Amino acid sequence: MKNIAILGATGSIGTQTLDVLRFHKDDFNLIGISAHRSTQSIMNIIDEFLPKTVAMTDFEAYNIILDYCTKKGYDIEVNFGIEGLNKVATRREVDIVVTSVVGMVGLEPTLNAIWAGKTIALANKETLVVAGELVMSEAKKNNVTILPVDSEHSAIFQSLQGNKMNKIDKILLTASGGPFRGKKIDDLSAVTLEDALKHPNWSMGPKITIDSSTLMNKGLEVIEAHWLFNCDYDKIEVVVHPQSVIHSMVQYEDGAVIAQLGTPDMKLPIQYALNYPSRKSNIGGTLDFKTLRTLTFETPDLQTFKCLDLAFKAGKLGKLMPCILNAANEACVSLFLNNRIEFLQIGDVVEECMNKFDYNKEVTLENVKSIDKEVRDYVFKKYE
Ligand code: NDP
Ligand code: MG
Repeated sequence: MKNIAILGATGSIGTQTLDVLRFHKDDFNLIGISAHRSTQSIMNIIDEFLPKTVAMTDFEAYNIILDYCTKKGYDIEVNFGIEGLNKVATRREVDIVVTSVVGMVGLEPTLNAIWAGKTIALANKETLVVAGELVMSEAKKNNVTILPVDSEHSAIFQSLQGNKMNKIDKILLTASGGPFRGKKIDDLSAVTLEDALKHPNWSMGPKITIDSSTLMNKGLEVIEAHWLFNCDYDKIEVVVHPQSVIHSMVQYEDGAVIAQLGTPDMKLPIQYALNYPSRKSNIGGTLDFKTLRTLTFETPDLQTFKCLDLAFKAGKLGKLMPCILNAANEACVSLFLNNRIEFLQIGDVVEECMNKFDYNKEVTLENVKSIDKEVRDYVFKKYE
């Protein structure tokens, strides 16, 4: 039996993780959960799984859940805020922490979970983008395993199994290309929020769906891959593969390419991380090679989708630059989701912030939090 905590239990990854736990109910105990303000969903999860600890990061939602547990007579610890996330992530019984909150808010609880020696099933890519250096070195120091949940990174991780001793030539990170694949700048000037939210293959939370439409998601994943697999940026190649069947590949020194294929369903990478190193039966669908006709590949258009180019640049510059990129992007996506800025402004504002802010500082938790706030404040003040 493995004891699980899910940070962000009400989101797209969180609810699919719950589906995996339901399907493998003899293998897992749900010990802790968190959400921001989705009180009804949290109440449903509490009634079904009776976890030992809950955290809500919105104060009103925290009070509602506290009242609910008291009225129901549940012996459940209800916590508030970042401190609450840290408590859930470090609870004594927990073996694996699934980090599926959205945004850089995932960094602190992930670090706390690492310091407490928990295995991390990492969905929250922003954590590695803003402080990959710190997170990976703390994981190493504390002998903690970080298991990727992001589908591409899970595919790379699976393609690396049994090959520890062999030299990688490159990582081939696949990208669907998003809803605007093939479009040029002029076509993108008038796209609406609704257009951007229509991902062709994956059903995900709103922030990552917008990131997928700008290709920033792939940029964040390049930085994530750099840290997870200790791979130079020059050895990470993004390949647009619109069918999302090949989830990513590793090319070895001898030219052999090993890939992981599957349907576009996050339950497979989630359950691979939770069951690792075993493989277990899966609720998700399987590929049917009798109907699967074509797998195609393209090179990404870095002129039109400049966020991907900016992320490569930020990653190569290192230090606080990926954090600046991420903070500007989180602020811009939030503004775009509220119809406050245009689609193409996302890349422009991220670039503006990368030119404006000083990145040349050590990656400490304090410096990361401080530059993150500075950049967000600037973007919200100027563009809201
Ligand atoms: P969702 O928006 O669907 O869910 C986000 C979760 O985080 C919810 O539980 C939400 O609670 C909680 N949350 C939101 N804001 C805050 C906050 N300020 N503080 C604490 N918790 C908060 O996101 P996804 O599940 O799509 O994505 C989660 C992470 O996983 C992201 O980093 C994403 O990049 C990554 N990922 C997602 C994939 C997917 O298929 N969805 C694929 C690969 C990676 P509430 O419901 O109360 O708002
Ligand atoms: Mg991904």
